[in-house]
Order: sequence, then C-alpha cells, then structure tokens
Amino acid sequence: MKFHRQTEKVYYKNPYLSCCTAEIVKIDGEWIELNSTVAYPEGGGQDADHGEIVLPNGKSLRFIDVKKMYGHSAGLADFPDIQVDGIILHLIHPEDQYLLAALLIGTKVTVSIDIQRRAALSLSHTASHLLYLAVGIHRPDAVVNTLGCHIKIESARFDFAVKTRISSDDLERIQATANGFIERNLSITVDSHPEIPDARTWRCEDYKIPCGGTHLDATGAVGKLLIKRKSLGAGKERLSCEFPEAKLELIRFHD
Ligand SMILES: [Zn+2]
Repeated sequence: MKFHRQTEKVYYKNPYLSCCTAEIVKIDGEWIELNSTVAYPEGGGQDADHGEIVLPNGKSLRFIDVKKMYGHSAGLADFPDIQVDGIILHLIHPEDQYLLAALLIGTKVTVSIDIQRRAALSLSHTASHLLYLAVGIHRPDAVVNTLGCHIKIESARFDFAVKTRISSDDLERIQATANGFIERNLSITVDSHPEIPDARTWRCEDYKIPCGGTHLDATGAVGKLLIKRKSLGAGKERLSCEFPEAKLELIRFHD
C-alpha cells in the first residue's frame, strides 16, 4: 500500500547538488521529515549522508543520520523487489535537539550535505561495484550467494557464502581485474526505470547492477583497490576493499 506522503529525492535528480530548499513536514521525536532533500538515506548497504538544516533565522540543526520509511514494493517483474517512494527523516545531533521544540510545520529551510562525506561514500560505493564485478568474473559461485554488503566512507565489503574458499590466487586475479576497470577510467551512468523512477540501474561497459545508491560518473577517481579476505567461519567469506589512492578532489559538487 502506498503511504500518503513522500519526500522528493533531489539526490536522484542531481547527485552533485550540495543543498536544496525544503519545507518541514513533521517533527517525529529527534527526527525531522522534509518534503524534499539532497541527503541520501542509509540504504542498499550505503551509510547515510550527514549535513545540516538551516532555518530562516540562520540557526542550523546538524543531522547525523538519514532514514527512509514507509516505502512500498516497486512491483516490477524485471527488477529486484525494492521499496520505493516513502518519506525521508533526518536525525538531529543531540546538541542541536533543543531547537526542535520551537520548529513549525511548513517552515522553509535549506538542507545541505557534508560533501566530503558524500564524495567518499560515492567513491566507496562505486568501488564496491567494481569489486563485485571482478568477483563475478573470477568466482561467479560467490556472487550468486551474496549475503550482504556495507559501504562506508573508507572501505566497502561484501560477504559471500562459498563451498570452496577464495584462494590467494583468486584474490590476486580479482584485484587485478578491479584495478583494470579503474585504470581504464570507464564512464558510469545510472538510469531510472521508465515507470518507477526510484528503480535505478548502474551501468558500466556492458555490466549493469540494479542499485539506488550514489556513485561516481567514471571509475578513475577510485585510484586503486586493495582487497582483503577474511573468513567468517565455515563457508562464509568477507572481501573488503580500501582505496589508498582515492582522488576525492576530482568529485565536484555545486549549490
Ligand atoms: Zn550502487
């Protein structure tokens, strides 16, 4: 069932926008619901943006988490069963929560994100797809049994169920393939499903991954992937990657 409100996801219309105007829709405890936002909520393994909501009197409330709620099933036959639409809530920093009591519904605000953090998350998310593609080439048995992923600012990781362990030779080949994608600075596009705009597909060369996260528009800025393997017990392996040569300065945002 569709929820009667939804937040406009400005981060999908323009992933390089650092701020937008919005209206306060509801105060829910320590969380503020806005009618539109540039802030990406936690989802698809990607950590949430941080940022601030600036009031007409110039006071600002920092937010330290963003979450999506009350989405409904995309209901598409040709796409994974994701939750779309819904509302987006911003968790206010404890030190700024004293401002919540005086807020009025309908107040016009400016919401802006920490662009360094977003750049790092977009880079990490892009890197995670390159890792995933490389694992798919060398260990297709692992990607079909993906258990989960976590995309943080300085690293990204996947957990896989496997019958045979990922050997150091596998790891070397996976790393070389992933770094090949980066060296070729391949362009990346993301497109929306014609009927459901929140159903998005990441594309690079002939590869495609259904994904609603934020990404770079080319692979080169990732710099280099360093991949590590860890056993999580019988039949479970974790591959994580770091990006010691990340070129965050190449990722530009605008107002
Ligand atoms: Zn993605």
